[in-house]
Amino acid sequence: MILVYTGNGKGKTSACVGQTVRALGQGLRVAFGQFMKQDGQAGEQAQLARWLGQSFCAGGQGFLLREEDRPRHRAAAGQLLAWAHRQLPHVDMLVLDESLYALQNGLLRREELETLMRLAREQGRHLVLSGRGAPDWLVEAADLVTDMGEVKHPWQTGVKATPGIEF
Ligand code: ATP
Ligand code: MG
Repeated sequence: MILVYTGNGKGKTSACVGQTVRALGQGLRVAFGQFMKQDGQAGEQAQLARWLGQSFCAGGQGFLLREEDRPRHRAAAGQLLAWAHRQLPHVDMLVLDESLYALQNGLLRREELETLMRLAREQGRHLVLSGRGAPDWLVEAADLVTDMGEVKHPWQTGVKATPGIEF
C-alpha cells in the first residue's frame, strides 16, 4: 500500500512514527528515512535509531532558505534516495518522512518518487510518504491519503516549540 500524510496541520511525522510502531509490533521490518531534517534535533530520531539502527536515516540539511544552498540540499536528498533504494528490498515498510516537502522544493523529482512507488508495488512493500502539499498525481496514485487540517496550534499564540511535542 502507498500511504500519504499531508496537509498543514500537525501530525504528519507523528503519524509516520505511529505507523512504524504498529508495523514493528506486527513483526514487520521497517526502514524510516527523513528528508530535509538533520539528525539529532527531534525526539523521534533518537528513538527510531534505537529501534531501527541502520534502517533509520535522517539525511537532510534543514530548511532550504537560500537558493545558493540548493546543490548541498539536492546532494543530501540524492543520498537519502539511494539509501531508500538500498533499504527497500529488505523491509516490509519504507517510511519517507518529509519526502513531499522535498518534492515541493524540487529536491526530489516526481520521476524519482514514481520509480520508488513502482518498485514498492512490484516488491509488495508498504510505502509511507509525508509532508505538506501532496500533489494531485500522488493523491491519485496512493491507496490512503490523510490531509491533516490545522484547527488550532500553539504557535498561533506565540508559544515556542515544545520538546516532546513539536520535536
Ligand atoms: P509532527 O512532527 O508534530 O507530527 P508535522 O510533521 O505534521 O508534525 P511539520 O509540517 O513537519 O509537521 O512541522 C514540523 C513541526 O513544526 C511540527 O511539530 C509542527 O507542530 C511545527 N509547526 C508546524 N507549523 C508551524 C508553524 N507555522 N510555526 C511553528 N511551528 C510549526
Ligand atoms: Mg513533519
